[in-house]
Amino acid sequence: MPTRGSSLDLSAPCEHVSEVRIHSVTRPAHGCDECLKLGAHWVHLRVCLTCGHVGCCDSSVNRHATAHFEETNHPIITSAEPGETWCWCYVDRRMLGEAALPPVEPLPRADDASAHAPARPK
Ligand SMILES: [Zn+2]
Ligand SMILES: [Zn+2]
Ligand SMILES: [Zn+2]
Repeated sequence: MPTRGSSLDLSAPCEHVSEVRIHSVTRPAHGCDECLKLGAHWVHLRVCLTCGHVGCCDSSVNRHATAHFEETNHPIITSAEPGETWCWCYVDRRMLGEAALPPVEPLPRADDASAHAPARPK
């Protein structure tokens, strides 16, 4: 059993992160569960963070990750591609990681101390 997992970038969380049960995933994943059974091909893989289901992305023919959401309402997936840590909420239709944050200067805070908080360690 592999014990090492890759972390998840939930730095821009939404209200559905309370449903996340899985906090690290193995990348790359072994393959799309359904496509393996069908003998079909996929483009990229996504992992459901509620139950660990592995499905294929919307660029794939069968879109099993989206189908899994429609079937189960498990809201959040992460990429199962090596080097990618972003998460996606199907309900909010947005990224939950740094890539989702708008590229603007942070607003100055009334509280000076928090405005100079050190950068989050990687
Ligand atoms: Zn959400
Ligand atoms: Zn698939
Ligand atoms: Zn699921």
